[in-house]
This record gives sequence, structure tokens and C-alpha cells, in this order.
Amino acid sequence: MEVLANIPFVAPSAEQKKMTIDYDTIIVGGGSAGCVLANRLSADRGHSVLVLEAGRPDSWWDIFLHMPAALTYPIGSRHYDWLYASEPEPFMHNRRVSHGRGKILGGSSSINGMIFQRGNPLDYERWGADPGMARWDYAHCLPYFKRMERSIAVQSDYRGSDGPLELERGPAQNPLFGAFFEAVQQAGYTLTDDVNGYKQEGFAPFDRNIRHGRRLSAARAYLHPVMPRQNLTVKTRAFVTRILFEGRRAVGVEVVEGNSGYPRQIRAGRVICAGGAINSPHLLLLSGVGPAAELEALRIPVVQDLPGVGANLQDHLEVYVQHACTQPVSVYPALQWYNKPWVGAQWLFLRRGPAATNHFEAGGFVRSNDDVAYPNLMFHFLPVAIRYDGTSPSGGHGYQVHVGPMYSDARGSLTLRSTDPTVHPALRFNYLSTEQDRREWVEAIHVARTILRQPAFAPYDGGEISPGPGVQSDAEILDWVARDGETAYHPSCTCKMGTDAMAVVDPDSMQVHGVEGLFVVDASVFPYVTNANIYAPTMMVAEKAADLLAGSTPLPPASVAFYRHGTR
Ligand SMILES: Cc1cc2nc3c(=O)[nH]c(=O)nc-3n(C[C@H](O)[C@H](O)[C@H](O)COP(=O)(O)OP(=O)(O)OC[C@H]3O[C@@H](n4cnc5c(N)ncnc54)[C@H](O)[C@@H]3O)c2cc1C
Repeated sequence: MEVLANIPFVAPSAEQKKMTIDYDTIIVGGGSAGCVLANRLSADRGHSVLVLEAGRPDSWWDIFLHMPAALTYPIGSRHYDWLYASEPEPFMHNRRVSHGRGKILGGSSSINGMIFQRGNPLDYERWGADPGMARWDYAHCLPYFKRMERSIAVQSDYRGSDGPLELERGPAQNPLFGAFFEAVQQAGYTLTDDVNGYKQEGFAPFDRNIRHGRRLSAARAYLHPVMPRQNLTVKTRAFVTRILFEGRRAVGVEVVEGNSGYPRQIRAGRVICAGGAINSPHLLLLSGVGPAAELEALRIPVVQDLPGVGANLQDHLEVYVQHACTQPVSVYPALQWYNKPWVGAQWLFLRRGPAATNHFEAGGFVRSNDDVAYPNLMFHFLPVAIRYDGTSPSGGHGYQVHVGPMYSDARGSLTLRSTDPTVHPALRFNYLSTEQDRREWVEAIHVARTILRQPAFAPYDGGEISPGPGVQSDAEILDWVARDGETAYHPSCTCKMGTDAMAVVDPDSMQVHGVEGLFVVDASVFPYVTNANIYAPTMMVAEKAADLLAGSTPLPPASVAFYRHGTR
């Protein structure tokens, strides 16, 4: 890590205390949720808000952030990414699975795949059925999904029309997308108008966070437009190392700015953790909020014994099923070095061409067995065979689907390894650890292969590259998934909302149970990971939380019908 290693706790000197600044609210993390909160809470000009972001600013000239197709570059780079990795995964041949997380203004929304998916309405019915969670069912969440978005492609009762997040759809015009839509129907699946509307189940073009050919991160949509507000201060390269308490009341934070390596204290009326599903529980644990035995083992004074902090870790694991393509129609040439100047120039001057899209322009949702009430598999189709790290195994034209189970019952944990805030916590996801998970993985590969072998692909099919014909039996499939699976970058649920013994956050206030003045708002508060990519639900949570934190009247619940399999 950078210069921050081994920061000792230093009591503030008289000089430091004099320099202490007071804010009404400190937001730890200028990421996806943090940008929403900064915007909504600073709308009250009498309320001072300080955002502390550990990463760099999202500079206008940084093409790796703003060019949609450059999305593979920031992942794995210390200039943009926290570079987490799991502990050896026991059901994956003890592999460590890499976990990128945005370390930059805009957080993960500045480096993500820009796919915009709300999840299934039944995800929120599931949330709402947990103790104390009645006001997080679909009817209560839908108005906040609508408030955040300006849907360009679809106008309906389900979609927002004047929010900060402009949502467009990719053209999905490559002939391989045409083959994909035909193939899913030949395989017996249906198309749907809008996976974010009445019916998620089925296949459709996907919404994306791209505006005029540029990534529309949470920072661009929510933060930059309100930066001039006098009551809003945003500090980048400001790493929060501890929450300060007086008794059980959070009164501020300890922060290391720039390369100083020197912690200073800032006091505030309240502290909101928006550091994401890894960093927020990490910060709570470092500050004495978490399972007492774990804290005592590291001699951290216990402020509040909360066994749920870091528990309940969930994610989506995914694989790519890849085919070679016999016709020169994939976007492979756009990735070749000799075409990059032309592709780059098109983007730079016209904001068009292969660099102006995330290429995840279509996909869909499938029930892989009759036991599930709603889709448990998500597919993304890509008109090229490529991995997230940019490598292309076909060495030529190809196409692929990304697939994986969406609500596995595998549960992991995040635990402290050290009291040094720069030492990453231990992440154990336990991918493939349950029977249900393994069954759904086998089903997922069967469904993917069924789709890709339909006649619609016959004109293009150059054979399966990965996993390849050698992988057939259930055992071979599971072995391949264990060796090849990668995270879809959706860690969540590590400070879950609720009122049961493992709950960390009060669903009606977002306050951490048992303490005062300390709140969590980000992907860590989900009780269950949703059935799709999780950026949109994170933003919805932040929108709804902003009303709870501002004391505003919540938006009235929306009672609209939604599709349920087996009913009309
Ligand atoms: C590579 C990648 C691809 C993805 N693709 C998609 C996709 O296509 N679609 C989708 O829906 N989802 C996608 N996701 C997931 C989605 O982007 C995230 O789940 C979501 O943005 C998380 O939001 P958050 O507010 O919880 O955390 P983040 O957006 O990660 O924000 C946390 C912020 O807090 C800062 N921070 C953390 N700790 C501290 C500290 N101690 N002091 C100061 N600052 C701190 C971080 O630097 C970061 O800026 C992807 C994620 C990644 C990483």
C-alpha cells in the first residue's frame, strides 16, 4: 500500500484540536452512495457536509474513467482500485479471487461496467419480509428508483423521467446480438420490453450509465453539479482511519490526508459510512463496532458488540462461456493496437464508435428450475470473446455470455486481520459451498450452452472455446467453474439492515444499532444481494436513506403490479 502503513493512533495535540473543523455531517467515501448523499443532504443550505474520499479526483482528462470501452484498464490498477483479494476459497481449489473496488471520486461507479439493473421486484418483497423491513418492500423502493433516473429508452409507470441518472440503451445492432435474441427464443425463452419494468424475466437490450458517449458515474450525475454549494466540502486523497466516539456517540473521524501519513481529527454532528461493502464494515471494526470477541482478540476497545458487522457477505460469481466466430463481425478488431488510434479519435472528437459503448448491450434473466419463484440466472451477451483483464482466448473473432446464479445461499464473512487500517481485511466468500449453489451452477452452464447451440448461431459458430468440449459432466463443470469463475464485483450485505440479532443498521433511520450519530449507507446494508448487477439498488438505497437522514417525508409507496411467474 501507499505511505499510510502502520499508522499509530496519536492523541490530538492542543494545536491539532485548535485546527479541528466542525461539520453537521461527514460522509466517509465519495463513491456511488456517497455522491447521492452529498447531493441530497447539502440541498439544505443550512447543513454543512464534508465528503472524505480516499481516492483521487475523477479528473476530466482521465480517458480511462470516461471512455466507456476503457473499462478494463482501471480494474487492477492501484491508481483506481483498492485491489482486494479473497482468502483462499475452500471450494475453488484454494484460489484467491481478485476483487476490484473503485478508489476514486465516484467510487466503483467510476470503474464499473455501467450496466444498469434494478433487480427483480421480488428481491424487495424478500427484503420487506425480514424483521423491521416492511418499508423496504418493492412498493416503498420503486419511487426511489424512479426519483434517481431519467429513462431515455422507455417511458412507463415503472420508470423515472427527470432524475440525475440519465439512462440510455445500447444500440445492440451487431448481427451477433440479432443471433442472440433469436437463439434465446429458439431455446424456449421469451423477450421482455424492459428488464427494469413490469417483467424482468426474459431477454432484452440493457440500460446503461453512459451519456453522450461518456461514462455517467455517480460523481458526474450527482456530485459535480452541486460542487459549487458553499455548504459542501469534498476532499479527495483523504483516508478515514477511525471513527471517533465519546461514549457511544460518534463525534467525528480520524483522517490521513494526502501523503502526510499523519492522522488528524475532524468533528461532526454525525458520521455516515459510505465506503462500500468492504470498507464500511472494515472501518466499523477498526473503530470498535463489531463482534466483541473478534475486537478483543486484537485489543480494540469495544464500543458496541454487534455480531453482524462483516457477517452475511454475499456476491455474484460468474463465468464466460465463449465461442469462436467464423465471420468477421465481432468487435475484436476494435481491440487491436493498430485500430486503437482510429477508435480513440472517433471517441475523442465525436464521442462515437466502439469506444463509446460498454458493449454489454443485451442479456436477460432465466429461471433455471421450477423451484425458484423468479429468475435465478442473469446473462450478459458480448459480441467478442474477452476477459475482464482484456485478454482474448480466441485470438480472433468470438462472442460470449456471462452467466452465474443471482441469489446463491452461500454466505461469507469479512474479518479483521490487523488494527492497521491499511491492512486489508480477510474476505471469505465461500463460493460453491452449498448444494443449491452447485446445482444452479450446473444448470447455468447447461442453459448457456443450450442458447449458444441454437440454429440462429449456426452462421457464426466456430465452436466452444471455453469451457470447451472436454467439460461435460456435472463434476467437470463444477471443477471448471471453480478454476475459472471470477467475481462479478457485487460484494454486499456486510452491515445488513433489519432488527434481528445479526442486523447492523436500523432500517428506519440507517443508524448503527446500539450507538448514536453513526450511520451506514451503501451496498453493505442490503439484507440479500439482488438478482442482477447492484449499482442501481445501491443508488436507490442512498436516495431513500437521504430522505430518512434529512428527516424529509418519505415518498409514498407506489402500488403497481409486477410480473410473477405462474400468475397472469
Ligand atoms: C469493476 C466493477 C464492475 C462493476 N460493474 C457493474 C455494472 O456494470 N453494473 C452494476 O450495477 N454494478 C457494477 N458493479 C458494482 C457496483 O458498481 C457497486 O456495487 C456499487 O457502485 C457500490 O457502491 P457503494 O456506494 O457501495 O461503494 P463504492 O461506489 O465503491 O464507494 C465507496 C467509496 O468509498 C471510498 N472509501 C472507502 N473507504 C474509505 C475510507 N476509509 N476513507 C475514505 N474513503 C473511503 C472508496 O474509495 C470509494 O470511492 C461493478 C463494480 C466493480 C468494482
